[in-house]
This record gives sequence, structure tokens and C-alpha cells, in this order.
Amino acid sequence: MIAGNWKMNTTVSEAIDLVKAIRADLDKVRTVETVLCPPFVSLTAVRELLKSTSLKLGAQNVHFAEKGAYTGEISPLMLAGLCDYVIIGHSERRQYFAESGDLINKKVKAALKANLKPILCVGERLEENEAGQTEVVVSEQLTSVLEGIPSPDGLVLAYEPVWAIGTGKAATGEQANRTIAFIRHNLARLYGDKIAGETRILYGGSVSSANITEFVKFTDIDGGLVGGASLKAADFIGIVTQTAKTKA
Ligand code: PEP
Repeated sequence: MIAGNWKMNTTVSEAIDLVKAIRADLDKVRTVETVLCPPFVSLTAVRELLKSTSLKLGAQNVHFAEKGAYTGEISPLMLAGLCDYVIIGHSERRQYFAESGDLINKKVKAALKANLKPILCVGERLEENEAGQTEVVVSEQLTSVLEGIPSPDGLVLAYEPVWAIGTGKAATGEQANRTIAFIRHNLARLYGDKIAGETRILYGGSVSSANITEFVKFTDIDGGLVGGASLKAADFIGIVTQTAKTKA
């Protein structure tokens, strides 16, 4: 699976142009599930353009309540039927919007209840990595965001070391694989081997068409969550096609 997180980029007309530039090439690659996550305001337009293609649509955030007095927020019920996936717990939301494990946990529960598939992000900050705390941090994040979720059906996890996001300084394939295997081990502890084996775990952090193979060549790494490179048509097409070749 390759998911493109467009973040707060593209006007509606730029989003339409980007989809038109990539959809035919991506539609041909049926062995990789490709998900586009544009800003909320472009979801409807992008949805129209993806009709009768194999590409999936995702949102970048969701509120935990179904409706109510939460000015400016978007509920799971509004997204259900509009898109398939929703990114939850991205480090930018944790950092700039003070999202806690508890809040992220509520969002994951609400998304699953509305039949949206969460792409749930975890990952350590630079100082935590340098202090050798990666596994402690990731394990604490998993425990809090998965609290009270009896079956993570449809859930996708993304390991995104914060120091690798948007920095051009990706983790090595070995580093990513080691932590993703650790995440899978935690899932097995929580849900058993079968669910742990079936849950897709992506790597995210400065992925490009030049380095994607370094990650997806590992069997534990099921794909990528891509930020910057998902806005560049040729790069994103390269990421998806190389993933398909590597996993064939
Ligand atoms: C992301 O936004 O999830 C991400 C991984 O960004 P980038 O690929 O730009 O590092």
C-alpha cells in the first residue's frame, strides 16, 4: 500500500490537475493499493475523478464526535461514504495541535465505528531516537492509541520517525524494518499472531522514488506513507510502480 499525504497543499484546481496527471498510470498498478489524501475541500472533486479507477481516497484528520458544536471540525459520519481511509495521529497533529494519545484513541474508535479505515501514525522524535528510546516511545504510543480497541479491523499503521518527516533524512531500510517488526510484535501481544500478520504497517519519512525500494524490499514493511513526494506526479508514480515490482 502507498498512501500520499498531501498535507495543507493544493487548491481544489491544483488537486484536480495533480489527480489527472497521475490517475491513469496509478490505475494500471493493481497489486499496490494506492490512496490519495488531499485536503478536505478537495475530497469531493477528487472522489469524482477517481470513480471507475482502483485508487482509494483518504482524509487527513477527523473529529471523534459524530456531530455537534465543534466549529471547524469534520466528523466521521461526514467522511463515511466520501472516503475509505483517514490519517490519524500524524506527528504534525501531535506537535502543532497538541493531539494526545487519548484524543487519537477516541478518533480511531470513532473512525472504525463509521467504517473508515484509520492510517494510524506512530514514531519517535529525534532526541528520543538519540537516547535509544525508540521502542519505549513507540510501544507507549501503541498502548495508548489502541486502548479499548478489541479488534483493529481495517486499521493500517504507519511508522513515521518524526526526525525523518519532511527533512530529506529518511531512516535506513534496516532501521525502519527493525521498528516495524517491533510494532508487529506489539500487535501480536495485543491481538494475536494472525491479526498482527495481516495488519499493514507502512514506513513514512522522506520516502521518494529514489529510496522506496530500500524499504519495501523488507517483508515486514507493507508500503509507504508519502508526504512531499506525493505532490510530484512523476515521483509518486515511480514510488507506486517500484513498490509493485519489488513486492511482485
Ligand atoms: C508524512 O507527511 O507523513 C511524511 C512522511 O512526509 P514526507 O514524506 O514529506 O517526509
